[in-house]
Amino acid sequence: MLKLLLITILSTNLLSSTLMEPTSFSKDLYKENILDGSYNDDIDHPNKFLDFKIGERVATPEQISEAILSWANQSNRMIVKEYAKSHEGRPLYALFISSPSNLAKLDEIKKNVNLLADGENTNANKARALINDLPAIAWMAYSIHGNETSGADAALASIYHFIASNDEETIDMLDNMLIIIDPLMNPDGRARFAKSLEQYRGTAPNYDDQSLIHTGDWPYGRTNHYFFDLNRDWIYVTQPETRGRVELINEWKPQILVDAHEMGPQDTFMTGPPREPINKNIDRDLIKWGNVFAQDQGNAFDERNWRFYTGEWHEDLYPGYSFYVQFRGTLGILYEQSRMAEDGVKRPEGTIQSYKESVHHQYVSTMVNLKTLKENSKAMYRDFWEGRKYNVSKDSKYANQTFVILPTENIGRLKTLIEKLQFQDIELYKNNKPILVKNVLKQSGDIDDNFSIPVGSLIIPNRQAEAPIIAAMLEFDAEIDESVLVKEKQANLRDGSSIMYDTTAFNLTMMYGLPSITVPENITNNLSPWEFNQTNYEIDKDALMWSVDGNDDRSVAFAARLMELGVEVRIINKSTSLSGHELSRGSVVVLGMDNPFMTDLHMLVEKIARNLELSVVSIESGFGPEELPDWGGEHFNLLERPKVAILSHEGFNSYDVGVSWWSIDHHLGIRHSQINKSIINYADLRRYNTIIIPSGGSLSKNNKTILTDWVKQGGTLIAHNGSVRALTSEEGVGNVKQIQNSFDKSNNFNIDLQREIYALSDEIDYESVLGNKVNTEISYPWETSKKKLSQKELEDRDKWQSLFMPSGSFVGARTDQKHWLTFGSTEILPVLYSNYPVLMTDKNSQAAVRIGEIIDSPENNEVKVLNWSTIPSGKDINIRMSGLVWPEAAQRIANSAYVTRERLGSGQIILFSGEPNFRGSTLGTNRLWLNAVVYGAGLGTSKKLNL
Ligand SMILES: [Zn+2]
Repeated sequence: MLKLLLITILSTNLLSSTLMEPTSFSKDLYKENILDGSYNDDIDHPNKFLDFKIGERVATPEQISEAILSWANQSNRMIVKEYAKSHEGRPLYALFISSPSNLAKLDEIKKNVNLLADGENTNANKARALINDLPAIAWMAYSIHGNETSGADAALASIYHFIASNDEETIDMLDNMLIIIDPLMNPDGRARFAKSLEQYRGTAPNYDDQSLIHTGDWPYGRTNHYFFDLNRDWIYVTQPETRGRVELINEWKPQILVDAHEMGPQDTFMTGPPREPINKNIDRDLIKWGNVFAQDQGNAFDERNWRFYTGEWHEDLYPGYSFYVQFRGTLGILYEQSRMAEDGVKRPEGTIQSYKESVHHQYVSTMVNLKTLKENSKAMYRDFWEGRKYNVSKDSKYANQTFVILPTENIGRLKTLIEKLQFQDIELYKNNKPILVKNVLKQSGDIDDNFSIPVGSLIIPNRQAEAPIIAAMLEFDAEIDESVLVKEKQANLRDGSSIMYDTTAFNLTMMYGLPSITVPENITNNLSPWEFNQTNYEIDKDALMWSVDGNDDRSVAFAARLMELGVEVRIINKSTSLSGHELSRGSVVVLGMDNPFMTDLHMLVEKIARNLELSVVSIESGFGPEELPDWGGEHFNLLERPKVAILSHEGFNSYDVGVSWWSIDHHLGIRHSQINKSIINYADLRRYNTIIIPSGGSLSKNNKTILTDWVKQGGTLIAHNGSVRALTSEEGVGNVKQIQNSFDKSNNFNIDLQREIYALSDEIDYESVLGNKVNTEISYPWETSKKKLSQKELEDRDKWQSLFMPSGSFVGARTDQKHWLTFGSTEILPVLYSNYPVLMTDKNSQAAVRIGEIIDSPENNEVKVLNWSTIPSGKDINIRMSGLVWPEAAQRIANSAYVTRERLGSGQIILFSGEPNFRGSTLGTNRLWLNAVVYGAGLGTSKKLNL
């Protein structure tokens, strides 16, 4: 009896003789067999690697790996390729499954599919022969979100089915198909979720989708080690899982890519083609094929009495999903199974949907889609071939378009861009002579009739093999139909909802803050393949100082890494020229005299520069000619080593926590602590001089008091988005206000804004200034406007405008080029903007970055009123750069601050209205943030003398 009880309890994985036996088992809910064919006994059944029957519970990443590696030895129908290792060291596998004879010629198959993709050099006869020979190729990928587990369990069953099945239909499929299975796309996230399943397991099965066993806990299993959503990373390619995967998929050019997810627990199953908005760069043939696959899949579900739907919330504008493959000619197919932990979920109709059934849905979908592919592969190849020819044809919509990234000193950032483009096999060129072009589209939206492309620009003609993805990644605006905008506006007004599922702007040059233009012609003359100039490590042991260029983002890491090694480092806050070297604002210098006890300082400088592949120069003289800064003056500021903490855990946005953590590890590689917010009331905060508060909404009054006291003692507090809302609310910690609380002082805010705008003007009335008589005709900026809005009018407008806030669009921001927070930033910076707190600063706080580009508009001879602010005569303001920014939202955020900085006691508070490190890819705003993190302790606080 005891033995029997033990076995029963074992099956729920809990070992204690003091617990009651459950009254029922979830494994009894669903009696269907997932694997019901005739199988070869030489291949181990998946149950052998699990301590349960396949589909009944969640296989761990370790169990999946063990099965794969064992099967690789047992089967001649499968070749395993490890394409990446996760941050936590777990392997990611792609399994190439086909007949042994196909597997023997994998290289030839790969060569042939790439020949078929060559629309330029492969002729029609050759293409026909290739199509005839090629097997169908499928890429089947599962569980990219770690807590959406059923896909990977279905993958395990599918792998076994294909390598062990004796039935003729399967053997025929393998003769004609290459099935590449990517069974587990996010092993770290799955391991985290599997651990929480283990952690929250009780004796009885739990069918309540609100319980911890179903939800897991912060930061949840969806994301990878650094809390990145891997299904938003496919064009940004920041994570190792994505890097290995994208490279391999692009080598193989599969015909379909299945991406199996899960969605809300009370939902059913979703698949099939998306609804509008659909990115216009996707070949419409793929939508046609999507319907063919969905019809077959739907029939299979109907037969089994399983409910499903297509379309609805599934749109396809953003190119960074797994569906990036659709820009390369591969059909993307999404599965969304209702999500449940392994016990199953109770539903309103009174039934319980079991985990095993959800695995079965994914398994059947896999089998049906593969059969549909087998039947239609040749016709799909013909469409693919047509598409590839179109991409390089002179009649395509891409034929007369070239993207140009203008020359930049920010080599580190340019390298990142180039790497992302090269992942997509995009050909890159450089011009060796200036090129005159007409009707150039600028990032601001303005058209320049005549433009000379400077030597050394990065030139990307759109007419090339990968034309659609080039356009998707680089065109400033993704085209959205008017009918979509109408629906969106109706949804915004009706109930504050949106029909847009992700950001509406994503082009890489704005993401990276790199100025670029679009030229309406195919540029081909005077180009050579892109290559970088050599990195110079010009280290003279006896130099007075060594310097790296502040325009390069990697200069921040250079400073941070040296400071961590105990080196005293300075930064130049005004550009100068020393010993014939041009040193830009923000350049980092290491002085021998600051570090009298560092032996071999020059070797350390060289080592760090080589680590970062960053050019460094040696300087013999500290004299800057004429008015340029010299080394002993006020422009050579001593930095202070940042000692960084990131507040973390429950209540914070895990993406924003994760990306802040990742950016320090990835961009800087310095020590820092993530600390649990729940301990800040008693933690010793003196260990840190820089505290980052990621976006969230959970700062209590007591938290704020403690942090304020810490700031006053000399700390640098950096906060993002949701936490900025908390810090600038009624019981805020500084002078910055949110717009809706500022209308009683609108005039004052505007006067301080005009001060800032006029401080940039280089026009004065010279005669009037030198006149002796008092001028009674002076015009004051706030008096010249006729129409002023009352506080009530401003409040009403604000309520209405706030209904239309963007959800991921680029707006132009002007950067204060005298402020240290903007080192390395262009004057106009594209900022990814969403429903962020709209920040107001007056003379008590600084706006290092403000929304809106002030432009000259000579025909505009009146002061314009824009809500609380005024635009001087002769000027205008540009806001929208890319994506959906309703005019009402543009009015609301115009002239508000994106980054503020204010002094408090001996310390400072730096607020980012948004999330500056979004997806590890908004490198323009990421640089502002890195400046804050690394330079804040030295530049914005009172210097501390250690006596
Ligand atoms: Zn998902």
